Amino acid sequence: MQFEEKKWFEGKPGTKESFAIRMGEMPNGLPYLLPVMVLSGSEDGPTFFVNAAMHGDEILGTESVRQAWKRINVAEMKGRAVMIPMANVAGVGTRTRRNVLEMYPGPHDMNRVFPGNPKGIMTERIANLIAERFIGPADFVFDIHCASVGGEWLPYVHVPTEADGVSARVIAESTRLGRAWGAPMIYPGNIHGSLVGEAYKQGKIAGSVEFGVANFSTRPERIWGRTGVINLFQEMGMLPGEPEYELEQEQFTVKSMSKIITDRGGFLHERAKAGDRVSEGDTLALMMSLDGEEIATFEAPHDGVVARRNTMGVVGTGDIIAYVAEVV
Ligand SMILES: [Zn+2]
Repeated sequence: MQFEEKKWFEGKPGTKESFAIRMGEMPNGLPYLLPVMVLSGSEDGPTFFVNAAMHGDEILGTESVRQAWKRINVAEMKGRAVMIPMANVAGVGTRTRRNVLEMYPGPHDMNRVFPGNPKGIMTERIANLIAERFIGPADFVFDIHCASVGGEWLPYVHVPTEADGVSARVIAESTRLGRAWGAPMIYPGNIHGSLVGEAYKQGKIAGSVEFGVANFSTRPERIWGRTGVINLFQEMGMLPGEPEYELEQEQFTVKSMSKIITDRGGFLHERAKAGDRVSEGDTLALMMSLDGEEIATFEAPHDGVVARRNTMGVVGTGDIIAYVAEVV
């Protein structure tokens, strides 16, 4: 049976395994299970840990993992892929970013609590398990994300910088890994307390991707996601073939990112899409009042690319309208 409760995988060469680790119990007393999917290649090689849906509304990551798991032929694989298809199990169930079963001091954002705490609340316990048992033994680490509710990103991968305190080799190898996924935008930087930040602390070659929107997946996005996972394994020599991707524009690196925030609330009319090239002063969006007046215009603060746009029809004071990337 799939996702049977087990302590750990067996990892026999040339096998696919899926099982679940018991993290404890939910408030209703039923088991809180963390699913794991493992591909053990027929030949020795590196260990690659892939994580998805630590934010419960980012199910494109789950689709990417399960489809790659299904399609990959382990007979032609070297090494092992250990994958968590949904790190935030409760969040996927409630279609929320955080685990809303969690009470004070949570619910926490899992991507801010690494390396977690084995005696903490559930999110911290899962983060700690990931840090010790999944990142610890891995050679390579990759974390899959989507835009949070109300936003759409031009797909990007995060790669480390010197500010992350990692070696030049880890920066170079992580950048190579990140590029292989096939996203148009390479965004150097890292988030404090993140899974990938923990991987860098442990000296791992690591990266993360962000694409699509929350709580929804289209067929092209699902195919893009599973291709991205397979690309990573090919780049690191675990599968035959070369990474494959088509880009509508050249891969580019972000130099800086501007955030455009609104002081006014109202009805948002978009004038630019994620991925659009813009010049300083170009209109990104307009704000209309309930009685039909145009009350604000949002312009590109400099030349660049629209990296993220707000997808909500109505926004409030303080909401983010867009991010505009300055390109290297
Ligand atoms: Zn996320």
